[in-house]
Order: sequence, then C-alpha cells, then structure tokens
Amino acid sequence: MHVFRLRGDFETVDIYSAALFDLGARGLEEKPGEVWAYFPERRELPFPGEWLELPDTDWLEAYKRDLKPVVAGPFVVLAPWHGWSGEEKRILLEPGMAFGTGHHETTRMALEALAERVEPDMRVLDLGTGSGILAIGAAMLGAQAVGVDIDPAVIPQASENAKLNQVKVSFDLGSLDDVEGPFDLVVANLYAELHAYFAPKYRGLFGICGTLILSGILLEREALVREALEASAFALLARRQEGEWVCLIYAA
Ligand code: SAM
Repeated sequence: MHVFRLRGDFETVDIYSAALFDLGARGLEEKPGEVWAYFPERRELPFPGEWLELPDTDWLEAYKRDLKPVVAGPFVVLAPWHGWSGEEKRILLEPGMAFGTGHHETTRMALEALAERVEPDMRVLDLGTGSGILAIGAAMLGAQAVGVDIDPAVIPQASENAKLNQVKVSFDLGSLDDVEGPFDLVVANLYAELHAYFAPKYRGLFGICGTLILSGILLEREALVREALEASAFALLARRQEGEWVCLIYAA
C-alpha cells in the first residue's frame, strides 16, 4: 500500500479530501501531526506531502481498528463487527476502497437530507454512489433506489453492501447521461464545479417536480453552484453546513 503523508489534521486537510478521493485515494487516517492518504499506486499529486510504503496488511488492520460507528439523522453507519444498541436504522458497510463510510461531512449531510425528504416508493437516483451508502439509506426508507458511478471498482462493493443490508438497489457503471428517469429525488455527493456543469442536465432527470440534494460543496464554492442551479430554474428549499462543507436541497 502507498501512503501519501500530508502535514496537519483532518480539519486542515479536509479542504483536499474530496480531491484526494477523486485522484484515487482509498481512505484517510489521522496520525499525530499528519494525515495519511492511502493509494493503491503512486501518482503525481498537486499537494505538499511525501510518499511512504506500507505492507497491505498494516493498512487494512489500522483502518479497521480505527473505524468508529457514525450517527447521521435516523441512521447509524456500522462495520459488520461493530455492536450498537441504539434505535437508529443500521447501515452496515464492509470497509473497502470506495468513498462513503459516513465519516465525511458530505455523506452525513446527504444522509440526513435524504431522511427528511424520501418517502416510500419514490424513485431515487444516487449519482456518484461510491460505497452505495446513500442509495442503501434511501432504500431503507422505502424508496426504489438506483446508484451509478463512473468508477468500475465501486460497483461490486456497492452491490455487496446492499446485500449485507438486505435491500434491493440497482447499481450500474455510468453517470447522469446513462440513467433513465424520471426520478422523484436525486442525491449527488460530487463537487461544486461538477454540480455547476451538470445543472442544466439535472433538470432532465425529473418529471413535473422533484427534489435535488447536492452535497460535496466547499463553502467557498457555494456561490458557483447556486448561480448555476438558479439559472436552470431550481428553487432552493434548504441548506445544511458542517464545517467547510455545504449541502444544498432544491425543488426541481
Ligand atoms: N455517494 C457516496 C457518499 O456520499 O459518500 C460517495 C461520494 S464520493 C465523494 C463521489 C463519487 O462520485 C465517487 O465514487 C466517484 O467515483 C463518483 N463520480 C465522480 N464523478 C462522477 C461522475 N461524473 N458521474 C458519476 N459518478 C462520479
């Protein structure tokens, strides 16, 4: 396993975390004074830091040992070996290489927003599904959920996670142009520039009306997304913020 070491802690490195995952990072771990980003192979990175080599087993063990349950709205996200006595709906995830363990603010806010908006039998699209966590959460709330992702590595993991949670979700390789609407609700935990680019296309995913949940937006780029969505006639219904991250909820 290849580790890219960045100085700082989760809070200071948070601004890079979505970009690190987009560039292929499979997990982040906080160490005293630094954050380790785990990569399956070395690559050029536009961040200050240095590479370190680790045997695969060290990484897996450390990652699993440090993973804690996460509560998000009515859900708790657990690894299969975690115990939990609370009343929350349990989302079990086998920790793997896909983004979406519930530990990131962007995932948690999207799960909370889903819990407020999903109703039984809604057709829900999870665009950029990663581990499948959001589509699985929507299915647990009674939705007919579909998840798509452009990374072929995550599709089998998302499908395994759906089985683990005994919910039926269809996961496919692809993106916004590959799905067949209309959907009642679309959730996308991507990044600001992509939301702005997708804004006119988001409209085509809905019928007469619907709900669009956009997460993965850095506070400093929120205006970019809001302008693009307003230009495509989406009306802002609600806004969530955790630290530097924003989640915008629109009426289509
Ligand atoms: N939905 C999960 C969550 O909320 O934790 C994972 C979100 S992760 C930040 C973004 C995911 O979107 C990654 O799995 C990435 O492969 C995928 N992705 C990036 N660009 C995409 C695109 N244009 N279309 C579909 N998926 C995309």
